[in-house]
Amino acid sequence: MVMPPIGKVAADPTARIVVLGRGPVPAGDPVLRGDDLGVLRGDGLFETMHLRQGRPWLLDEHLARLVAAASAVELALPPTAALIDLLDEVREGWPAQVEGALRLVCTRGPEAGGPPTVYATLAEVPASSRAARRNGISVATLPLGVPADARNGLSWLPAGIKSTSYAVNSAARRWADRASVDDVLWISSDGYALEGPWANVVWLTHGTLCTVPAATTGILAGTTVAWLLAHAAELGLGAAERMVTKADLHAADGVWFTSSVRGAAEVHTLDGVRRARCPRTPALQALLGFPV
Ligand code: PLP
Repeated sequence: MVMPPIGKVAADPTARIVVLGRGPVPAGDPVLRGDDLGVLRGDGLFETMHLRQGRPWLLDEHLARLVAAASAVELALPPTAALIDLLDEVREGWPAQVEGALRLVCTRGPEAGGPPTVYATLAEVPASSRAARRNGISVATLPLGVPADARNGLSWLPAGIKSTSYAVNSAARRWADRASVDDVLWISSDGYALEGPWANVVWLTHGTLCTVPAATTGILAGTTVAWLLAHAAELGLGAAERMVTKADLHAADGVWFTSSVRGAAEVHTLDGVRRARCPRTPALQALLGFPV
């Protein structure tokens, strides 16, 4: 298939890919070499952003997390300006009214050495993500088999990085499909809720919006939840990082999963127990600015 240059396509929401140093490629064309360490070992990093009104939301936060992760895994990223140019190129001509999922991927590159492979992808936000915002999600807890602080203080092990090694996350998602639930919440062996395979957990208790501390648990420090908690006062709510048990979540006034593309999805069922819908959900979603 011959694809016209992206810059010439007016308001076209077709999925697209731009590779650093190569330019736009048809979405179905190969991008990675067979010996790229991203493929061989899942040795790479990525960020996924929400494109709204044609622009990436929380771009600086995503780039900062990527740069920190690259330093933690000693991956030589191109200069940030080149990454921004790449993102600008892939979103050029994207219709402002169409929500996009914008991904930036940096793998370690060829096994025998060479520069990282860097590319950006852009596609419409899946209908399932928009439906989850509207209708909420069912979640089941799943044991992770390690204590909540297992990763704390292991200086050799980079924690909380958005690595392309998502084998454990993908296994959890397959389990969710088999269990006929929308998502999973990992529970540590000492009984604390940690995060979902693609989302942070947020709950409301006594007027305070809470999430799990990333620094002591090694979970991913989510950009969406960080922004939400930083702006909780605009909803008249406090904000805190706390450890939480399943029982605490059942007792909470509201529970949500937050992530960059889905935004905030209210948990309507936890481990088969139907929860009363939280009247705060519309305000919370309006604050985050995701269309419902
Ligand atoms: N935790 C994990 C494991 C994730 O993969 C993600 C997002 O993909 C999140 C949390 C939420 O992070 P963010 O809000 O930055 O998308």
